[in-house]
Amino acid sequence: MKFKSKLPHVGTTIFTVMSQLANEHAALNLSQGFPNFPCSSELIELVYKHMKAGENQYAPMQGVPALREVICAKMNALYGSNYQPDTDITITAGATQAIYTAISTVVRPKDEVIVIEPAYDSYVPAIEMAGGIPVYVQLRAPEFTLDWEEVRNKITERTRLILINSPHNPTGAVLSETDMQALDAIVKDSDIFVLSDEVYEHLTFDGKVHESAAKYPNLRERSFITYSFGKVFHVTGWRIGYCLAPAWLMKEFRKIHQFEVFSINRPFQMGLADFLKTEENYLFLPDFFQRKRDLLLAQLKNSPFKVIPSSGTYFQLLQYGHLSQEKDTDYAIRLTRELGVASIPISAFYHDNRDDKIIRLCFAKTDEMLEAASARLCGI
Ligand code: GLN
Repeated sequence: MKFKSKLPHVGTTIFTVMSQLANEHAALNLSQGFPNFPCSSELIELVYKHMKAGENQYAPMQGVPALREVICAKMNALYGSNYQPDTDITITAGATQAIYTAISTVVRPKDEVIVIEPAYDSYVPAIEMAGGIPVYVQLRAPEFTLDWEEVRNKITERTRLILINSPHNPTGAVLSETDMQALDAIVKDSDIFVLSDEVYEHLTFDGKVHESAAKYPNLRERSFITYSFGKVFHVTGWRIGYCLAPAWLMKEFRKIHQFEVFSINRPFQMGLADFLKTEENYLFLPDFFQRKRDLLLAQLKNSPFKVIPSSGTYFQLLQYGHLSQEKDTDYAIRLTRELGVASIPISAFYHDNRDDKIIRLCFAKTDEMLEAASARLCGI
């Protein structure tokens, strides 16, 4: 049969590739971003309770009311917003679906979308599936800051959407209030939407504050904001996330969501709704992950790598250009095979596979695994 791929240059996502390689070589898997420690046993009990109570049929298309209510209350308390559970939020199959659906909602063929690189690998294929054109702006190493003048210069009458991600995967950079104000000034009085990927919302370090788009009224009224329970509650396998947007925009989002997945599994949503009622269940996260980051940094102190500071997420970048001239993909594969430590090469986050000789480690791992991996990396 004649067939032309809709995504000819897309292969298998690097996270799947590196996790598979890690498994094949029984390597310590610090590549794909998922914890190797258990989630709260209370959370499991809560889900189980709802399953046993017979909560096993379809959830409402937009998500169970109790979960939407507790999320909106949390958002409004943390960010001074006024999200309404009935109209402004939808529970999704992880943040990846939320991002895909949000992009599908507003991007039409030939629309331009500002993508800040390095960029999470699902963004551009989602834009291309909608017929959109990615327009790239690169963060500036070594701090991975954003030059907003460059963003402004890339805006045309075709710009439909700007995609931001803070805390930022893979760099660990965090947008500041000044950044958000700069974005605010750029989109003000325009027809440009914002997609703010905030899945690492509670993972900021050294006293840094998460600047949600929800805090800024002018941004809030044009933004989709996406979140992930997998990332914050150590349950990436549950595939549950959510998206917030103003009612009129969320109405359009739901038109697509309902025919993509219809709804997300019910007992898990109900368990999460109960669990979220206790603030401590998420407020402990910055300290919890900062300790992990610091443990990793302390263990890597005598390694030959150059460490790029991480202010958020559960990722740490290491630069190796002074050790080897190998391509980062080859280097990451070799470390997996020969050293038994799997990482992610950063070139996978650039459309042109730009190679700055940097790899990403995930530190959402037990202390034992972090220590073992560091020992191997120090011996390189
Ligand atoms: N977000 C995870 C990461 O950056 C990967 C999730 C996935 O594999 N889809 O590692």
